[in-house]
Amino acid sequence: MTSLYNNIIFGPIRSRRLGLSLGVNLLPIESKLCSFDCIYCECGWNADHPGKRRFNAREDVYKMLDETLEKMVGEGTPPDVITFAGNGEPTMHPDFENIIDDTIALRDKHCPNAKVSVLSNATQIHREDVRRALLRVDNNILKLDSAFDETVQLVNKPQGAYTVARTVELLKAFNGEFILQTMFLRGEYLGKLVDNTTEEEVAAWLRLVEEMRPKRVMVYSLDRDTPCETLEKVEKEELQRIAERVAALGIECSVA
Ligand code: SF4
Repeated sequence: MTSLYNNIIFGPIRSRRLGLSLGVNLLPIESKLCSFDCIYCECGWNADHPGKRRFNAREDVYKMLDETLEKMVGEGTPPDVITFAGNGEPTMHPDFENIIDDTIALRDKHCPNAKVSVLSNATQIHREDVRRALLRVDNNILKLDSAFDETVQLVNKPQGAYTVARTVELLKAFNGEFILQTMFLRGEYLGKLVDNTTEEEVAAWLRLVEEMRPKRVMVYSLDRDTPCETLEKVEKEELQRIAERVAALGIECSVA
């Protein structure tokens, strides 16, 4: 079963890779809101969430984050990272830039060693305010799952105009100040074969990685339940081999 985050602040979750991570959800609490509708989305299909399309107010995010950070620091367990993720795409929030500035100020006030991370599908990076905000956070993590439009249409199901070429141009404009995140998976969807691990896919994706030169790449595969139930996880060893090919380009790559 897929599931939603039921609050503005979620976690903290401890992971070996990130340490103690506190999540921030700018999207509706009772439904999903995203500019993609990925077949692997752990929040489920967009159509399953016809609920209110209301973003959480900047003031509420500020108040809850302020209180939570104060409490965590008071208990001697400050977060290692504050991560923007949740029920959809955080950069769709109209006040995203101001919320990032609030978060950086709260981080500096309560726990200056914590990092601020944003997990985004990169559909809003044409907006100057989103670009500016992403350049201010510690970990600007942006998604690109394939070098081919056809695959992106099948796997990510963009809800508006989207092309890989345009996204790559916008990603290049970050001048390496971003972390590229790619989901590798196989399976079947709508009677079509889904597989972004073929040699053709991986080779084309690597060419784009080389062209964009992100400061780091993160590759991963399925972890939780997915709305499309005919998908298959790519094993760690195979992800490791892809990571080695990224490393051969002189770019650090981690397998999640
Ligand atoms: S971009 Fe993220 S939140 Fe949006 S549909 Fe894909 S996995 Fe779900």
